[in-house]
Amino acid sequence: MTMSYDFMDFIREFSQAKSVAVLTGAGISAESGVPTFRGKGGIWEEISIEEVATISAFETNPVRVWEWFLDLRKTFKNCSPNSAHTSLAKLEERFDDFTLITQNIDNYHQEAGSRNVVELHGNAWWSRCWSCGARFEDKALGFDSLPPRCDCGGRLKPDVVFFGEALPIGELERAIQAAQRCEFMLVIGTSAIVAPATSLPYCAYQSGGKIIEVNLEPTGHSSLASLSLFEPATKALERIVEAMGLD
Ligand code: NAD
Repeated sequence: MTMSYDFMDFIREFSQAKSVAVLTGAGISAESGVPTFRGKGGIWEEISIEEVATISAFETNPVRVWEWFLDLRKTFKNCSPNSAHTSLAKLEERFDDFTLITQNIDNYHQEAGSRNVVELHGNAWWSRCWSCGARFEDKALGFDSLPPRCDCGGRLKPDVVFFGEALPIGELERAIQAAQRCEFMLVIGTSAIVAPATSLPYCAYQSGGKIIEVNLEPTGHSSLASLSLFEPATKALERIVEAMGLD
């Protein structure tokens, strides 16, 4: 049975923890001005997933996919990390074992100072050659012609996980191990819909970890949570950092 906490009980026990995992989703970047994928104002209200973010779309219409993706890069560049991202970087300093697992591709956790970051869905600022597999940092916001090409002549693909693609196995393994050994998992701004990321809180819970949820509304993870903070991620994380004396 899930044990429930009040906020200060949680802070007292959390402060003693050795091993912490965090799972973040698009909601943590919403207050930076980056739209989430689902929910009110979400990206999918305006564009269909099939049109831009699937492997078959990339194979049949890479120009359209790259046009959309370059717009997404511009959004990431025009916005910046918020206090929820910087609060997580502060928390990392406090624990011996701290793994930040993110589904986001915006690079904001690293920009805010987080170091041990597992990127389940890749990073928008990297590209990979669809022919030779070469992977490299790519900060371009535009190209002379689309799709951009690798030196080998192959087509470049944004190095993010499209629908229909497998997750990077090494990153997934690191995430599962962190979920299995953590005493606490903070689950922040994720709708609990996209697999397999959605199973990580179950994995932590079944291994004895306590789940703390931060979201604007209840999700499929809420029944696992010992504490749910239904408030914006910036506010919840500022409260946690302040209560731990880290601000
Ligand atoms: P999602 O869009 O499915 O869900 C967002 C969740 O965040 C919702 O549950 C919503 O209630 C919550 N939320 C919204 N604003 C919040 C706030 N201020 N504080 C706390 N919670 C808030 O996102 P997902 O679960 O991450 O899954 C969708 C996929 O979207 C992921 O694979 C991710 O790669 C991708 N994505 C990434 C970005 C990014 O990198 N910033 C942006 C959009 C989508």
